[in-house]
Order: sequence, then structure tokens, then C-alpha cells
Amino acid sequence: MLNFVLFGPPGAGKGTQSQKLIDKYQLVHISTGDLFRAHIKNQTALGKKVSKLIADGELVPDKITIDMLEEEIDKNPNAKGFVFDGFPRTIPQAAELDHFLEGKGSKIAGVIALDVDKDELVKRVAQRQLETHRVDDQADKSQKRIDEYFNKIILVLPYYEEQNKLTKINGIGNIDDIFNELCAVINKY
Ligand code: AMP
Repeated sequence: MLNFVLFGPPGAGKGTQSQKLIDKYQLVHISTGDLFRAHIKNQTALGKKVSKLIADGELVPDKITIDMLEEEIDKNPNAKGFVFDGFPRTIPQAAELDHFLEGKGSKIAGVIALDVDKDELVKRVAQRQLETHRVDDQADKSQKRIDEYFNKIILVLPYYEEQNKLTKINGIGNIDDIFNELCAVINKY
């Protein structure tokens, strides 16, 4: 199995690049944000539980997020591998993902972090808000999520750096050029 994490702040291009990567490598894309949004849209019990947190730009508790993610992995027993997008966002999530994959005789091959500065992120998320109307992309919420990334979520990276699994890529530029850089990293896994 080929599993890797696409890491980066809101607006870094994780969703866009994930889509291209799953087409090329025939992998399953797991975006915890997309999964939560689907639960909210379908008004499931989980959706009702997390909708306010997400609308406010807060993280969902680890246990809820991990359970949902593991269930999603288990729904795809024949997957060639997974692209994780928006997960892990905390060290306990990262450790549990390792543990869970190990139980299946698998592992994370690597983590690719897309580097984009705050000013550019603010612009991109504002543009996305116009297109998708995501409530958590509204200016005050998106600023909070971007700050949360640089103050807290980024602290997950040393966990992978210590395992020599981290590669950083410049996330500003032409989408296809960035995609090619990602592929060059993935081809070495
Ligand atoms: P995203 O689409 O990845 O930006 O995620 C949207 C929202 O879903 C986040 O702002 C969080 O509220 C929630 N969420 C997604 N992934 C996670 C995660 N790994 N841990 C906690 N909350 C998450």
C-alpha cells in the first residue's frame, strides 16, 4: 500500500492536488474535512454533533475524528493506498494513524507539507468562500483557522521529521508545476 499525508494550512491546495494525485496513482482520498461536511449535509448524528465546531473554525475532538477516519479506511479494504488530507492535525491523531496502519501491516510512506504564506492563504480562502460559501471560510473564521495552523497544527511536523518522513514543497505557483514536484517526491516512496 502507498499511504501518504498531504499537509498544509487552509487554502494551501491540498484538495486540488489530492484530486490529481488520486487520479494518477489510483489511491483513495480521505479528507476528514470533506467527510465532516458530508455528515453535516446529510444531517447524521455525527454531523449534528460537529456542525457548530466546524462552523466556528474549531477542531473536532481527536476521538471523534479518529473514529470517523478509521471507519473510512475500513470501508476501502482493497485500496492500493490512501492520500490523507487534513489529517492528522494533532500528535495523538498522528500516533493513532501509525498504530492503526501498523495493525494492518501498513504505514505512512511520507508527509508532504505545502508551504504557502499567510497573505496568499487569506486571498485564496476568500476566493474559495465566494465559490463554495463555506461558513468556515468567512474572513473571521478563516483567519482563526490559518492562525491555528501556524500556532498548533504545524507542531505535528516534527513528529514526522524525526522519522525522516517529511518533505516540504513550495505551494505557490502553477498547479501543474506543484503537482510535478509532488509526483517526484511520491515516486521515491
Ligand atoms: P478542512 O476541510 O480540512 O479545512 O476541515 C474543515 C474543518 O473540519 C476543520 O476546520 C475542523 O473543524 C474539522 N476537521 C477536519 N479535519 C480535522 C482533524 N484532523 N482534526 C480535527 N478537526 C478536523
